[in-house]
Parts: sequence; C-alpha cells; structure tokens
Amino acid sequence: MPSQETWRRAATFGKYRGTKKTWYQIALSDPGYVYWMEAKLRNDPEWASMARFLDRLVSAMDALPLSSSARCAVCGQPPTVMSIAGNARVGYSVSPQYVYCAEHTDCILAHNATLYPIGLRTAAEFRHGSTDHGQVMRTLKVLLDLPERLTARAAWECLEPAPTPSTTTPSHKLVALSR
Ligand SMILES: [Zn+2]
Repeated sequence: MPSQETWRRAATFGKYRGTKKTWYQIALSDPGYVYWMEAKLRNDPEWASMARFLDRLVSAMDALPLSSSARCAVCGQPPTVMSIAGNARVGYSVSPQYVYCAEHTDCILAHNATLYPIGLRTAAEFRHGSTDHGQVMRTLKVLLDLPERLTARAAWECLEPAPTPSTTTPSHKLVALSR
C-alpha cells in the first residue's frame, strides 16, 4: 500500500510504473487513466490512502479553471462547451476557437459536431495515444492553461490548490524572520 504522496513521487503501480511519471503528470496527459484508476480503487480498503489521494486529484482535475483567454466564438463570453466534429473513422476536428457559451450551443448543429464540456473528462472519452486524443488535449491545454512543459513540478502546481495562508504568523516567528 503506497504511503503518503508527494509531487515528486512517480507512479509505482499500474501502466505508468517505471516511467518516472507522477500522478499529476498522468492527470494532465492521460486523464482518462486517472479517472479509471480512481473509480477502480474507490471502495477497496487495501488502497484507502491511494484512493483518498486519487479522489483529491480527480476533484482538482475537474475544478481546473477556464483560461481567461477562452471566448465563445459567437459572443465572446466565457465558454462552457467545445465542439468536436467528425467520428472515429475519419478523425475529429477540434480547436480552441470552436467553443461556445450556454446560449450559443445551437449554432454548431449545422456542422454535424458534438458538444462536450470543456474539461479533462472530455479527453477521457478518446483513446489515449490516438490522434484525436492528442488534438483534444492540445485544445484543452489552451482552454485550461495547462503547463507548456509537463514537468513534475509544473503539473503539481497546476493541480494542487494554492495553500491558503493559515492564521497570522506568530510574532516570535516574525522576529526570527527579521533577524
Ligand atoms: Zn456565446
């Protein structure tokens, strides 16, 4: 059973074992695998600590904020959905430009596209390693401001909520700091 996780620690089991990738890096490159693993371990008492970690990780993945540069293609408001046209046979067409707010979801019907929520769960609908998955991930990278280079540290910083400053620093510590 894995002990406490750190941002540096690579996956020690599963298909990424031995790759030196951390769970944070996997979350931002192959999110479907993390969602799948979280669901698999959720009720397994032998994996309780890992399950808790993955539960937190999945929550952070689902809570990634939209980039401030993302705009509805029609009205410029923050978008909620991305349009993905095509199918598994001919391939898909997806781009950060084809995104829409809730009020403008009907305008893409003519293009025979499907609307997906903007988020990592959408990438999980496409097979990891396929061209389509790559395209969806590249689009999400822009829409969710994912790190340009997916280092262990960048992935961790993207997914771990900034620590909230606890109480005010005790005065004796401030004295120590000013020395
Ligand atoms: Zn709109």
